[in-house]
Amino acid sequence: MKTRIKKIVTATLCFTIAFSLVAGSTISAEAKAKKKSKATPKNIVVVLDAGHDTTHLGCHYENFEEGIANLYIAYYCKQELEKYSGVTVYMTRTGFDCPYGANPDSSADCLTARVNYAKSVKADVLVSLHNDYDPDLDKSQNGAKVIIPNPNYRPDICVTGAYLAKSILTQLTTTGLEINDWKLCPNGTGIVTRDSSSGKYPDGSAKDYYALINKSKTAGFPTIIVEHAFCTNESDRVNHLSSPEQYQQLGIADATGIAQYYNLKLK
Ligand SMILES: [Zn+2]
Repeated sequence: MKTRIKKIVTATLCFTIAFSLVAGSTISAEAKAKKKSKATPKNIVVVLDAGHDTTHLGCHYENFEEGIANLYIAYYCKQELEKYSGVTVYMTRTGFDCPYGANPDSSADCLTARVNYAKSVKADVLVSLHNDYDPDLDKSQNGAKVIIPNPNYRPDICVTGAYLAKSILTQLTTTGLEINDWKLCPNGTGIVTRDSSSGKYPDGSAKDYYALINKSKTAGFPTIIVEHAFCTNESDRVNHLSSPEQYQQLGIADATGIAQYYNLKLK
C-alpha cells in the first residue's frame, strides 16, 4: 500500500474474530453455494486490480517500484486464470498510467473509478494486487498477507473474502513466501481487516478503512487486497520481487488460489 497511508492507527479485527462473528452465515452460505453449483455452474467474473500507477505511486525501495511489479503480477495472474473454464478476467489497468483521469490530487477518484469499472463488468470479486513496505523500515517484517472486508454490514462478503484469502495465501507459501505475522495484528493467519475510524455503513456499523473494500461492499461484491511481499525485507525483495519470473510465480499462485476457491477446472 502507499507509504504515507501505511501508518496503521486504527484497531484491526483479526481473522479469527471475523470468523467467529460470521460462523453461522458461513455454513449456510457454503451450503447455498454448493446447491447452486450443482444446478448451474455460474461463470465467475474476476477483476484484477494492479495497485497504483504512474500518478498514484506505490512503494519504492532500492530497485523496487510497486506499481510496475503489481502490473506484472496482474498480467501473469490473468494469463494463468484464463487456463480455466468458467471464468472471465478483467483488469482495472493494463498500462503503467492511470486510466481514470490521472488526477494526482485525488487518489479517491481513481479508487472509486476502479470499483465502478469492476461493477460495470459485473464482478464477482475484485482482487487488488499489491506489495508492502514497512514505514518504520522494520526489515524483519516479511511475507504475505491479505486484507479482507470486515464482518460489518454484509457478513457474507467478509466470509467470501476470508476463504478466498486463505486459498491464495496457501498458494503463495508454495513460492517460498512466509505468512506475514503483521505486527499490528499478529494473529498468525496473514488475514486481517481494518476499520475506518469515522466512516459508517448504512446500518451504522464501522466502514472498512480501504476505499476499494468499502465501496465494493456497498456495491455488493467483495474486494480483497493481496500484499504479496515486503520490498523492505531483503529476502522477500531478492527472492520474490526482482524478476519477471518471480512475478510470474506470484501471479500463478494468486490465480491458483482463486481457481481453487471457485472450484474452477482447467480447460
Ligand atoms: Zn500498494
